[in-house]
Amino acid sequence: MHHVDTIIIGMGLAGCTMYWSLKNAGFKCVCVDSNLQNTSSKVAAGMFNPIVGKRFTTAPNAAELFSSAKKYYNKIEQLIQQKIYFELPLYMPFQNVAHQNDWSLKMPQLKEWIHDDSDLEKILLANYQSEFGGFLVNKTGYVNSNLYVNATLDFCKKNDELLIENVDYAQLNIEDKTYHNYQAKYIIFCEGTNVVSNPFIKQKFLNLAKGQLVCGRISSALPQIIYNGKIYIIPTTENEFICGATYEWDYINNEPDEFGKNYLINELNKVVKFDYTITDHKAAVRPTVIDRKPIVGNIDSAHKDIYILNGLGTKGVVLAPYLANLITENITNNLEIPREFSITRFKN
Ligand SMILES: Cc1cc2nc3c(=O)[nH]c(=O)nc-3n(C[C@H](O)[C@H](O)[C@H](O)COP(=O)(O)OP(=O)(O)OC[C@H]3O[C@@H](n4cnc5c(N)ncnc54)[C@H](O)[C@@H]3O)c2cc1C
Repeated sequence: MHHVDTIIIGMGLAGCTMYWSLKNAGFKCVCVDSNLQNTSSKVAAGMFNPIVGKRFTTAPNAAELFSSAKKYYNKIEQLIQQKIYFELPLYMPFQNVAHQNDWSLKMPQLKEWIHDDSDLEKILLANYQSEFGGFLVNKTGYVNSNLYVNATLDFCKKNDELLIENVDYAQLNIEDKTYHNYQAKYIIFCEGTNVVSNPFIKQKFLNLAKGQLVCGRISSALPQIIYNGKIYIIPTTENEFICGATYEWDYINNEPDEFGKNYLINELNKVVKFDYTITDHKAAVRPTVIDRKPIVGNIDSAHKDIYILNGLGTKGVVLAPYLANLITENITNNLEIPREFSITRFKN
């Protein structure tokens, strides 16, 4: 029997962040992942933006969340020796006059997030349509979540902490906390959308949303600003970009399809002033929760050492470090996890 502190099942954004959080606390882990390629974390654009939606809302703890996420990813960059965290200003165009007016009312409360740079705005407007104007946001950017996950898997592999396989739930004993020949103190489930196959989780809490993205290339230099309107356009190199994303609640499969591609190209053509070629097209299903809050904590009151981290949704890259840390602090210092994240809010 190999003795470890934790078995982590599923190594997407949730599992990888759980791994680093526990490793930082001195834990020995063994991670199990099926290494699928079309998972949410491997497809996601990884954008972060504190100002959300048509009503320009921000989380009450946004300043703290964003600064600790930045520190977290910068620390991981040193450990994996790869750049994964990219800070870029972000432009939010107004959709109409009412949207403009809403912004004038909201703006005084959001001053700390506004990026005041008229030269940058001129560059933006030379490349993108913006009939009603807009504003620039700072402390925004993207995490290359595909690279983050793959580099973390490589790190675990080198440390002999990774089993590449589809977990065999029949071999997993959550009373003894054993899996094959591993004996652990804790088990943490991070299977994303695949949690529906987990026989120990009875609640149905996911409201899945398929998302599609296209990647493109232009021959000249792209302004190094994220455009975030009905669609977003993220420059990933001097002349490459990612454009997303669709939100599809009724879908037949998780493959890229003509509907998604045509929608994105149609929206791109309304917005950009440059010529481009499409170089790639991807799709995955987001593990979003019915009430849009993540699932963090024990799987039930009878299993104090068995946890779940799921439902990261569209703010996954910023939330993951904070939420993983809640579990680590619960294990190491007995700090309570906010009840609003508990899986028990859903009936069996
Ligand atoms: C198109 C698109 C765009 C997005 N854009 C953004 C964005 O801009 N910003 C943002 O913050 N978020 C974004 N997201 C959301 C973000 O991707 C998710 O919140 C996050 O990736 C979810 O991570 P996860 O680890 O919970 O799930 P997943 O990424 O699904 O990871 C689950 C892992 O578990 C493994 N697994 C599952 N079942 C088993 C099993 N039985 N045995 C072994 N391994 C198993 C899988 O192989 C996978 O590696 C986007 C998502 C999509 C689809």
